[in-house]
Amino acid sequence: MPEKNKYEKLHEKLRRNPKSVWADRDLQTIDSFNVQYAKYLEKSTTERRSVDEAIELAKTKGFIDYEDFLKNPPKSLSGTKLYVNNRGKSVAFYRFADDVKDGMNMVAAHVDAPRIDFKTTPLYEDSEFAMVSTHYYGGIKKYQWFSIPLALDGVVIKSDGEKVDIRIGFDDADPVFVISDLLPHLDRKKGDVNEAFNANTLNLIIGSRAITYNTEDKAKDPVLLNILNLLYEKYAITEEDLFSAEIEIIPALKPRDVGLDRSMLGAYGHDDRVCSYTGLKAIMDAEKIDRTACVLLLDKEEIGSDGSTGAKCHFWKKVLNAVKDIYKLDTPLEVIIERSTMLSGDVAPAINPNFKEVHDVKNATKLGYGMAFVKYTGVRGKGGANDADAETLGALRNFYNANNVKWQNGEMGKVDIGGGGTVAKFYAQEGIKVVDAGVPVIGMHSPFEVVSKADVYETYLAYKTFIQSFK
Ligand code: MN
Ligand code: MN
Repeated sequence: MPEKNKYEKLHEKLRRNPKSVWADRDLQTIDSFNVQYAKYLEKSTTERRSVDEAIELAKTKGFIDYEDFLKNPPKSLSGTKLYVNNRGKSVAFYRFADDVKDGMNMVAAHVDAPRIDFKTTPLYEDSEFAMVSTHYYGGIKKYQWFSIPLALDGVVIKSDGEKVDIRIGFDDADPVFVISDLLPHLDRKKGDVNEAFNANTLNLIIGSRAITYNTEDKAKDPVLLNILNLLYEKYAITEEDLFSAEIEIIPALKPRDVGLDRSMLGAYGHDDRVCSYTGLKAIMDAEKIDRTACVLLLDKEEIGSDGSTGAKCHFWKKVLNAVKDIYKLDTPLEVIIERSTMLSGDVAPAINPNFKEVHDVKNATKLGYGMAFVKYTGVRGKGGANDADAETLGALRNFYNANNVKWQNGEMGKVDIGGGGTVAKFYAQEGIKVVDAGVPVIGMHSPFEVVSKADVYETYLAYKTFIQSFK
């Protein structure tokens, strides 16, 4: 190697020189972490199932139910691990140090994902098809949901109050469902794609055979009646029961390795189960903690974080109040919160080679370069963003550099192109130091989103290192 000249040396000294995660990490370690993540994803097809599965995993590492903790609190707070299940759709995991006076290291992520929901009066018959009318949830590109296999996943509360679990389409032996698109020969749709693929045409086909043929007895809506009869036989539900129900229409696709090199993982729901899983694993696996840690898995992010299971509901605070009481800790709640730092774990839009033009490339995240910080989200002039302060970014950047964890930074896209938000601002309002930090993804909000396995692993490492020793 020829000696570098002084400008090359200066370049090396002054300019950033990002290095791929793949260059520094063990392939085997990355792969086996992603195999576990894919298993979590396969089970966690709704926010409810993501919460159930997260709690199951946490229990194996000694996390106990908050209600059980209250009945029988351990002598010492230090080392206590617990979870609060908020209506089965969001959950907080805590790991306590000996006090909460230093504040907490927190990670928040969301377990809901864009999808299509049943309407509250969903069933009808049209042209001898049994159909479901729907209302989409979160930001979807409607055309992506036509002509792909779809599954049903959710709950129904029956007239006697019983909760019935419905999950059809994920098992190979199950039927699937479809929103069928028009053949190209007859399709002269022109103009705006969102008008061409109208939300009111997102109607799901669930049957096409009548309850009876060749009989004297005539049935009204015979195809729909057959479906209702099948539902009654299997679940003992009637049409009105579908009012008190949440049935989600989810891509019937399993997580798959993407690429001949298997460097990527494709799946529905990476946004944001990838930060949820890595955050959960981080608090489970942290070898020690220097200060109290809290991981929040939240619902409703995709529709603005409203509702009793979203980030605007502070169900997690009751734990701090209880702990203060039980262990006679005198730091006010506001002070604990003010002294806390949070990584708002959410996916970042990475450069997609097919659509580079929407990014300022030097301010965009890239697959394979580690956890992505996003200082501000928002629209236009950063409208609606918490815009993390330089001090917080400085502390985190230096922390990660000292701990050899790979990170990168980016924006939502070019200025004045699009925009978006995360849960970060709701925690910033409480006084928590918070910045968005998560996994870069391409094809976000599509039925098959793609992440780099290297970033999944590196983000886990970043969350774990943060929970172990950030101060
Ligand atoms: Mn998200
Ligand atoms: Mn999203």
